[in-house]
Amino acid sequence: DEAKLQKLFDTIKEEEIEFVDFRFTDIKGTWHHVTYNVKAVNEDTFKNGLPFDGSSLPAWQPINKSDMVLVPEAGTEFVDPFTADPTLVVICDVYDIYKNQPYEKCPRSIAKKALKYLQESGIGDVAYFGPENEFFVFDNVKVRDEINCQYYEVDTSEGEWNRGVDSPEYDVYNIGHRPGTKGGYFPVPPVDSMMDLRAEMSQVMEEVGLETYVIHHEVAQGQGEIGVKFGTLIEAADNVQKLKYVVKNVAHINGKTATFMPKPLYGDNGNGMHTHISIWKDGKNLFYDPSGYANLSQFGKYFIGGVLKHAKAVAAFTNASTNSYKRLIPGFEAPSILAYSAQNRSASCRIPWGAGEKSVRAEFRFPDSSGNPYLAFTALLLAGIDGIKNKIDPGDPMEMDLFELTLDEIREKGIQQMPHTLREAIENMLANRDLFKVGDVMTEEFIQTYQHYKFETSIWPWEGRPHPYEF
Ligand code: GLN
Ligand code: MG
Ligand code: MG
Ligand code: MG
Repeated sequence: DEAKLQKLFDTIKEEEIEFVDFRFTDIKGTWHHVTYNVKAVNEDTFKNGLPFDGSSLPAWQPINKSDMVLVPEAGTEFVDPFTADPTLVVICDVYDIYKNQPYEKCPRSIAKKALKYLQESGIGDVAYFGPENEFFVFDNVKVRDEINCQYYEVDTSEGEWNRGVDSPEYDVYNIGHRPGTKGGYFPVPPVDSMMDLRAEMSQVMEEVGLETYVIHHEVAQGQGEIGVKFGTLIEAADNVQKLKYVVKNVAHINGKTATFMPKPLYGDNGNGMHTHISIWKDGKNLFYDPSGYANLSQFGKYFIGGVLKHAKAVAAFTNASTNSYKRLIPGFEAPSILAYSAQNRSASCRIPWGAGEKSVRAEFRFPDSSGNPYLAFTALLLAGIDGIKNKIDPGDPMEMDLFELTLDEIREKGIQQMPHTLREAIENMLANRDLFKVGDVMTEEFIQTYQHYKFETSIWPWEGRPHPYEF
């Protein structure tokens, strides 16, 4: 896009940019970057891309086929608020020069294929995503090192992890002045000691192009949330990466550590990434029907039906860590039961009550921020599209407190539950892999890589470790 490229070079001039920082996301969801001196960046950079070593990233290329290319996308740029010298960040896709196509393991390219699939199926033109990424801010964290039977202390004032502090406790805990367990929603300062920190995070988010609105302490001790405006599939996923970058860096600069880990504290609420979705066509919100339950259309119901039906497989991407499943238990506003309802925060899908033509949407409450947002949104979208194609009706809404249900009641009512482990999610994903392979969105090679990566780096090390509680 010529106009966007021109704007980018204008920004370089206006902001007297000295460095351009190219960023891309790996399978796990981590942002990586490589910096160029601005004088080495020109129009060709955007046409031909930039070479890098694809073998040094987890689960990407083998050493003998390591040459990969970053393709920067004009329009995604923002001035890095944290660098000493003026630096422009540009978000990139990864290109495979051997196959001459977008790299099949590039999550951002996968998300683009999912969007294309939506459009080519004729179902919709645009998919809007509004994620709510909750996080904790810790003054200090002690983590038990299972291998060396020691405790690490995170001394964030030094900006590094200091090891070797003895402590009789073994659960990770928060030692700062905080509201009590589940007491964070939302008393004024001084109980809420994070007000200025969140304000600073919100200001920096605005600087990098995120539109923030609601800013608040969340239910758990030291937990926060900053609401950001929804965006299209790719925008919203890019925004998650920006939001995490800002939250973590602002915390770090203030001598603290932020984490989006789903369940850091036993006995308190965890961190969700509730995801609001609507699909639009010809400028119309297809989720809207004023005669439907909570203004929701049959189209919206089918979408929800698809997501709930496939949630056990979708979870491999939306709840992508072993820790994710410690959050999905009754009693902490995180859903374990696959049902939908208006208002009911114990259901995995909520239809925000009273929403009008433009804002009717489904809020899926099971996702968390531990995975890759491009893959998480892709998985949700593909499951929803399947629901529409196959007219999967989710049945009647469930208005009761689902946390109260006994196991017998769950079985008798034929209610499905979220998986209880990452293994269960990955196994469901493999059993249902065709869902993700439609339109070549995820290739078999990618699915194999993903499941193997999760087993090797998460599931086996976690399953094999004696847990402190077991002693
Ligand atoms: N923290 C809760 C979760 O894990 C959500 C709380 C809320 O936003 N109402 O999903
Ligand atoms: Mg919220
Ligand atoms: Mg919240
Ligand atoms: Mg919510």
